[in-house]
Amino acid sequence: MDDQITLLRELQDLDQKLNRIDQDQHKLEAERREIDAEVMRIREMVEALQKSITELEGQQTELRQALDREQANVVKAEQRLPEIKTQKEYLAVLKEVDTAKKLVRDLAEQSAQKNAEIQGLEQEVEEKQQAMEALESQSAERCREIEEALKSFEGSRQSLSEQRQAQIKPLSRNLQRNYQLLMERRGGIAVVEARNGTCLGCNMHLPPQLFNSLLLAQDIKTCPHCNRLLFVVRDA
Ligand SMILES: [Zn+2]
Repeated sequence: MDDQITLLRELQDLDQKLNRIDQDQHKLEAERREIDAEVMRIREMVEALQKSITELEGQQTELRQALDREQANVVKAEQRLPEIKTQKEYLAVLKEVDTAKKLVRDLAEQSAQKNAEIQGLEQEVEEKQQAMEALESQSAERCREIEEALKSFEGSRQSLSEQRQAQIKPLSRNLQRNYQLLMERRGGIAVVEARNGTCLGCNMHLPPQLFNSLLLAQDIKTCPHCNRLLFVVRDA
């Protein structure tokens, strides 16, 4: 029975190593996803800003066209002034010139505002792009490390799995199944030491008779409280 329990303990060591690899792998994959998400987030902000700039530039073009038209109107109206015969018509054209000039001023002001807005956004885009590039170059090294680590995990997993197969083979089907169930249901610990009459898996006292038979190593025993497979460490 000592042989079986030794095999089980070694098997559990292998399984715990495999579990740690899985956990480390998930952590690294999560970290990589976070880096990707952060880069993506900044990229989307840049794209949204660029879209706003394009819209503003469209509005700016329209404003400039309106401005050109109004300026042409001013020139045209002013050219008519010398040919005007009546005072009434003269005043009307003057008023027309005035209105057009005021419109030109308004449009020029709006256009200047648009320009300022566009410049502000362009600066923001530049800042975001720099932040994105900085993040990408900072995280490039980390992403390479993660990639390397994941590759090496794959290698370790392969060799541990092979060891595991060899380890589990000599165990009876029942014992294999029992062990597997306990691993799943008891937080990855199926085989535990019993010491001073206590199961170290659940910290409950074992019946003295059970503990004594463990010392004699007659059979594989399970803890009556947590069902884990028990072993005792004898003084060398
Ligand atoms: Zn127990």
